[in-house]
Amino acid sequence: MSTLLKPELLLVDGKFVSGAALQTTDDGKVESVERDADALPGERVENLRGKALLPGLVNAHSHSFQRLIRGRSETRGDNFWSWRNVMYAAAAKLSPEDVHDVARMAFLEMALNGITTVGEFHYLHRQPDGSAYANGNELAEQVVAAARSVGIRICLLRSAYFRAGFGMPPDPGQRRFYELPDEFLRNAEVLLDRLQDDVTAWLGIAPHSIRAVPLPELKQIADWARANKLKLHLHAAEQRVELEQCIAEHGTTPVRLLADQGLIDRDTTLIHAVHISDDEVRDLAQSGATVCACPTTERNLGDGIVRAAEAAEAGIAFAFGTDSQTQINLLEDARELEYHLRLQQEKRLLLDHIGGVQLAQRVFAYASAGGADALGANSGNLQPGEWADCFTLDLNDAALAGTSQQHLLSAIVFTADRCAVRDVWVRGKQIVADGRHAGQDEIITRYKEVSRKVWT
Ligand SMILES: [Zn+2]
Repeated sequence: MSTLLKPELLLVDGKFVSGAALQTTDDGKVESVERDADALPGERVENLRGKALLPGLVNAHSHSFQRLIRGRSETRGDNFWSWRNVMYAAAAKLSPEDVHDVARMAFLEMALNGITTVGEFHYLHRQPDGSAYANGNELAEQVVAAARSVGIRICLLRSAYFRAGFGMPPDPGQRRFYELPDEFLRNAEVLLDRLQDDVTAWLGIAPHSIRAVPLPELKQIADWARANKLKLHLHAAEQRVELEQCIAEHGTTPVRLLADQGLIDRDTTLIHAVHISDDEVRDLAQSGATVCACPTTERNLGDGIVRAAEAAEAGIAFAFGTDSQTQINLLEDARELEYHLRLQQEKRLLLDHIGGVQLAQRVFAYASAGGADALGANSGNLQPGEWADCFTLDLNDAALAGTSQQHLLSAIVFTADRCAVRDVWVRGKQIVADGRHAGQDEIITRYKEVSRKVWT
């Protein structure tokens, strides 16, 4: 059934307007955004007084199972590598049903935060002893089922993970990640076929990193992704040690290698891209690739600060990801992109009015349309023909009350939290109402059982 959503304020082209309504089609697309729209005969009308309606947020980089390690690597003496050992310990213990239930927990939290699509960078493929499942996509399909169960859309970025690193022996902690290159492509073919014409779940391809995939296989996978018109995501230039390892193997840095080999284009998303030179900023801009920043994870792991101002000046597209699930709040990632620069440079408003775009408009667009472009989600702007993925914020929320229409988007970007999110629609179907999801209690109960099992 088509629906007319009538909020007090609607975000259109980066600005809030009053009196506008969003009309959806029977199959869940945006039909129109109009002032003083009247309901069609038989159309359902949702009066959203006291609420602002915005395009759904898109989380372009998630490892859902890492929701399990939250709070477990925050003691003195930790570094990136000890964090990885906690992550390996969680990965080692999950049954397929557990993978499903942990993913549901992560996706529930995303939905409650206004996230309507997730890019799940999935690298759990094998059984705990390292042998293959009879169905090579067993765990990928569990994650897809989890997204369907919560009601958010998913780009399943099936990850290739072939080795611990250049010249390194296999790491027992990674035994569930490894596949052989032929096996990876075979499983990806099968999953592509299974998800054909599916608008709620679709395939993307994710060579994990230059560390985990040798160059010949990386080229082969990129060719296959291009031939099938799939998005290609990979981690790159997250930590300085990764640059040293890449120089040792290839004689150059990760982004330079990818650019020189013709492996990046507008269907590519580089996750992190923290440690990049001026030349690499230029190369990325010319390629049309997206940078997916994960500022919450990057500050948690001590990775460094994304060169967002130079990148934005050069015209590089951005998206955001919750990555390690330390915190699931894309608006927090949006504000951190600017805040980290302020702390680093002891200045304010580093991302404001670049190319004439106001700061809050820019980073909110990264969190919605930018993520949608990185995943091929056809959403993020509430334009006719896009999927009707959207959410409301309570204008009487304690953090937002009394803000003028003109300053509301800035207040949302720099202040709003999950408790202000009231309703969420995905493809025109409501999945969160009055701040709650219908499956919430059951999903949390089951997740707590898995967490207890894994950690005792
Ligand atoms: Zn990641």
